Amino acid sequence: MRIQILGTAAAEACPAIFCDCENCQEIRRRGDVRDVRRRASYLIDEDTLVDFGPDAFFQATAFQIDLTKIRRILFTHAHLDHQNATDLMWRHRGYSRCSKPIRLLGSHYTLGILLSRLSAEGESISFAEVLAEPVELACYQEATDGDLGILPLEADHAPGKAPMLYLISRGGKTLLVGNDTGYFLPKVWEHLAGKHIDAALLDCTSSLHYANQERGHMGANTVVKVAERLREMGCADDSSRLVATHFSHNGGSIHTDLEAFFAPHRIEVAYDGLALEV
Ligand SMILES: [Zn+2]
Ligand SMILES: [Zn+2]
Ligand SMILES: [Zn+2]
Repeated sequence: MRIQILGTAAAEACPAIFCDCENCQEIRRRGDVRDVRRRASYLIDEDTLVDFGPDAFFQATAFQIDLTKIRRILFTHAHLDHQNATDLMWRHRGYSRCSKPIRLLGSHYTLGILLSRLSAEGESISFAEVLAEPVELACYQEATDGDLGILPLEADHAPGKAPMLYLISRGGKTLLVGNDTGYFLPKVWEHLAGKHIDAALLDCTSSLHYANQERGHMGANTVVKVAERLREMGCADDSSRLVATHFSHNGGSIHTDLEAFFAPHRIEVAYDGLALEV
């Protein structure tokens, strides 16, 4: 399984467009490309996306991704940094020639919000009109889509809005999509028991400034706690790639600072474009 991390920022991106906070100013001063963070999205092999946010066009062009090969998009939740209906709307006949259908997977709530956002300027657009098939997933119920195994897990995030984490398997390899969330809920740990994870992407929104944050999003110390528990449970071993991602400028997102913090814990720090072969 090849996983490419297309975006590593929380909602506002880094540097946030109009923000003059210390962190954003420092990013602009440094000119380190790893500090420029687009909104969270992951490419699995060539045919699967996890989340499709407002930076999809720039991610596709920057990393030479052919989005016509995408057969499915899994949505973690409906927050705007993870879901951009407008760019799906351009699949409509007359705007684009799309000859292959795409499946859109997520919770009932997430897909409902996506459908409502597809309707622009008072015109109602159906999934069928953008050659898309919605596939509803439920937490803790295993699903398959093609050769992909999918286990949705409940995220500690956006209460009442059915956000999901995903355990995604293909060809004997397993990826844990662990954002957006706080410290994993007890039932998530129960479902992770006995599983082997080859790569885990862990929410680090609150980063170094709010390192102990545990609810809603995670700070850096909480990411370490999750990584340690995954190792203790045998879900992760020396071959597993544990990766912190989804950084907010509000939490501090300077790449070299994050690397210095996480290196002793054997946790990698994501940057846009990073590819993991597992
Ligand atoms: Zn987010
Ligand atoms: Zn800022
Ligand atoms: Zn969110």
